[in-house]
Amino acid sequence: CGIVGYVGARSACTVVVDGLRRLEYRGYDSAGVAVVADDEVRVVKRAGKLTNLAKALAELPPADRLRAAASGIGHTRWATHGAPTDRNAHPHASADGRVAVIHNGIIENFARLRDELEAAGVELASDTDSEVVAHLLAAELARTAVPVGVGAGTSGSDGGPGGDAGISGGAGAATVGDGASGAGLVAAMRAVCARLTGAFTLLAVSADEPGLVVGARRNSPLVVGVGAGEYFLASDVAAFIEHTRDAVELGQDQVVAITADGYQVTDFAGAPAPTQRYHVDWDA
Ligand code: GLU
Repeated sequence: CGIVGYVGARSACTVVVDGLRRLEYRGYDSAGVAVVADDEVRVVKRAGKLTNLAKALAELPPADRLRAAASGIGHTRWATHGAPTDRNAHPHASADGRVAVIHNGIIENFARLRDELEAAGVELASDTDSEVVAHLLAAELARTAVPVGVGAGTSGSDGGPGGDAGISGGAGAATVGDGASGAGLVAAMRAVCARLTGAFTLLAVSADEPGLVVGARRNSPLVVGVGAGEYFLASDVAAFIEHTRDAVELGQDQVVAITADGYQVTDFAGAPAPTQRYHVDWDA
């Protein structure tokens, strides 16, 4: 229902939970966050109101590294597939815990994708349509991983598009780890989205690429918030309007990557995609 992502110098957890609060008016039944801290993905999620999530976060030790994480994603869920429980709350993680994803909408072909994953030995941990995306991303990351000792960009064996020289914003061009090797979370997101049917706004983080949040959309909204050395992703500008009024609306079937340096938008095939930057001059 509500989606927020952040990369920057502040506590991603704090920014994301505050953003979710700004989207609370939309209604929801559970809430959760995932951040990349010390090269691990940490997920905290609870059924019920945001106060339940805030309480779980407050109960972590004061020095918990989760608080210092510079990148993260958060979700308020309006259940369509699976009861509103802790287990079904988003984010959903891959089996190895290295990737976490949040989803708005409905993945219409999730049953077929779930059967395919289960046939490959993956055990699903929730009853949602969304969880398949976490496992598909992990599988795609494993399939396209650059072998140790082979520098990124030397093989190009994936046959994917070349580097993303294209559309980017921010102070400098965002150099998102997505070179000629066709590996990494951005490329994985493109490949997975091309297999999904239905409506989705997706955000994902990977333990192997801290400082990066990847988003994608089809038939469901996603907006980039352009700050100074910090970038936001949200289902609605209201989530980040207290931080920046500089926004970029994603078009249909686009993938976006944000880092602390900028954002980069492509279509599902990896080609640079045109976007419209605008100023939000109304009160959210
Ligand atoms: N279909 C997903 C679920 O039931 C996402 C629902 C939403 O948009 O919040 O978990």
